[in-house]
Amino acid sequence: MNWQSGFESIISEDVHLAPLTWFGLGGRARYFVKPTNEAQLSEIIKRLGEARVPIYILGNGANLLVRDQGVNGAVIQLSQPALKSVQIDGRTVTVGAGADMMQLVRAMCKAGLGGIEPVAGIPGTVGGHIRMNAGGAFGDIGSAVASVTMLDAEGNLYTRYRDDLVFGYRQCNITGKVIVKAVLELQPEDPEQLTKRMKEIWLYKKNSQPMGENNAGCTFKNPEGQSAGKLIDLAGLKGTAVGGAMISRRHANFIVAREGTLSADVLGLIEHVQTIVESRFGVKLEMEVVIW
Ligand SMILES: Cc1cc2nc3c(=O)[nH]c(=O)nc-3n(C[C@H](O)[C@H](O)[C@H](O)COP(=O)(O)OP(=O)(O)OC[C@H]3O[C@@H](n4cnc5c(N)ncnc54)[C@H](O)[C@@H]3O)c2cc1C
Repeated sequence: MNWQSGFESIISEDVHLAPLTWFGLGGRARYFVKPTNEAQLSEIIKRLGEARVPIYILGNGANLLVRDQGVNGAVIQLSQPALKSVQIDGRTVTVGAGADMMQLVRAMCKAGLGGIEPVAGIPGTVGGHIRMNAGGAFGDIGSAVASVTMLDAEGNLYTRYRDDLVFGYRQCNITGKVIVKAVLELQPEDPEQLTKRMKEIWLYKKNSQPMGENNAGCTFKNPEGQSAGKLIDLAGLKGTAVGGAMISRRHANFIVAREGTLSADVLGLIEHVQTIVESRFGVKLEMEVVIW
């Protein structure tokens, strides 16, 4: 039996990944899989593992650069309704990893449940946010997470609880292959106050980041006690370009992809910035954006 047997309707081949990422760049996926439920997802992971096909999990592609040659493996996206459902029980919210975080933040503020509004304006899915521990000056998603349910490489489902989960700066100790769902523990608050706070956070982001241009958020992690954007700015690199890729003039840690940009341009610019910043300040900038 080949790994696709019986799943032909949820598997496509040679799928363009660029439109599925915020950078809008990159080649195709050899296979693209959209499971309709947890059981299918689990079986697909198991079969891909047995067939030794590399697996890539795609959220909203907001922190992702896909190389021009694409990926020779199976990209899985949890975009079907059963994998992005939201259930509210008092202050506990169980949410599928495929759910859109910006929509969830708005819905929770409206429902008078606080705790995830610090990630307002940060694009991505619940799975992507948890994997990256998305956040910023106002807080991060990790502090609201009570448990995470995931699949291991053999397709077995298991859950890890708060005591066992460690969320750090743009990282967490989750080693599962796929985050399937999470339980968030939120606090009842006045919906009007929450919505006001959410809007303020969103406005702060809108005014400090190049939201309207193709990008994948901060390119590099902040080195301990320093700001990557400030180092890039001090090195005089704002506005520097390789092909169509350019260091944003608005926020030096953002690379924007103008029309005609190749992923190779972005990779070239990343290398250039790392070389200059290291030679000027002795700091090796580490990637925040994930490269496939
Ligand atoms: C305009 C803009 C502003 C941004 N601002 C911020 C910010 O302020 N703070 C911040 O932290 N980030 C920011 N980002 C980056 C991005 O929004 C976050 O990293 C977000 O968490 C990415 O989620 P995603 O679903 O798009 O993940 P993707 O980009 O699709 O994937 C990112 C990584 O997570 C993995 N992943 C995704 N879903 C799952 C899953 N279900 N199970 C296992 N692994 C998974 C992927 O395999 C990949 O390794 C910004 C991005 C943009 C475009």
